[in-house]
Amino acid sequence: MNYSKKFRVEQGSKVKLDEIDPNYKGDHENKDDAQGELEKHAQRLSELQYLMYAENKRSLLIILQALDAAGKDGTINHVFASMNPQGCRVYAFKTPSAEELAHDYLWRIHQDTPRKGLVTIFNRSHYEDVLVVRVHNLVSKEVWSKRYDEINNFEKELVDNDTHILKFYLHIDKEEQLSRFKQRLDDPKRHWKISESDYAEREHWNDYQKAYEEAISKCSTNHAPWYIIPSNHKWFRNLAVSQILVDTLESLNMKFPAPTANIEDIRKKYHAAKEEMKKDK
Ligand code: AMP
Ligand code: MG
Repeated sequence: MNYSKKFRVEQGSKVKLDEIDPNYKGDHENKDDAQGELEKHAQRLSELQYLMYAENKRSLLIILQALDAAGKDGTINHVFASMNPQGCRVYAFKTPSAEELAHDYLWRIHQDTPRKGLVTIFNRSHYEDVLVVRVHNLVSKEVWSKRYDEINNFEKELVDNDTHILKFYLHIDKEEQLSRFKQRLDDPKRHWKISESDYAEREHWNDYQKAYEEAISKCSTNHAPWYIIPSNHKWFRNLAVSQILVDTLESLNMKFPAPTANIEDIRKKYHAAKEEMKKDK
């Protein structure tokens, strides 16, 4: 199954989240059944990220957005498990600080976009500025409604400067969210993840769905597409995201850079050093 195609939101299309099944799991029955493919993707991701780092010509920005408990942290853990930490960055965007609020909303975002060679994941992003900000009326409609175009322009500028952008919305339903809240309650090791706002935000479920639908519909572009990932099954979410990452990185046709040293000269030096070692023995 080609998940890159299946879950990609085409530019100009109108998203209706309640028409998308969050329980979808493709051709696979369960996690065991998908294990082989998951491992294959992990191996490929490791090779492709190494190549991106070595090539040092472009970067990959992965944006993760979702409601509480939808699996942003789990996805990050899974996706990066196979990558070399030296070439990876993660940034989590929280409620803006006073300093951040004193700037335009893209200021803090732009500082953390990846430099060439890096893979960066954003755990939340500038999309919060048309999601939580809209749902809670933190700025007027006149202000947030202009942001879709501003975001598209901002992302276009990044893409024009060799940053590839993939945006994932992790789609769960209300029932699954509650069952994950319960797992957190039942497991003392997860209590730190519980926040007062979880239940308050849940009250705004429908407003969030509407805000997400508009953000995804208006900002899924050919240069920076959104993917809606059915995420009630964590293993399927990981499978789909990793497949889309592999497909995208493979399509870039990356190449190892030419060596800066003269390899033949170095080879001669190596053999001379080897002879020296023999003589010394
Ligand atoms: P978490 O990701 O669960 O640690 O929570 C981070 C919190 O920061 C969430 O409640 C977000 O909605 C909030 N947040 C992130 N970005 C913004 C923003 N631009 N304006 C207001 N709240 C934000
Ligand atoms: Mg949270």
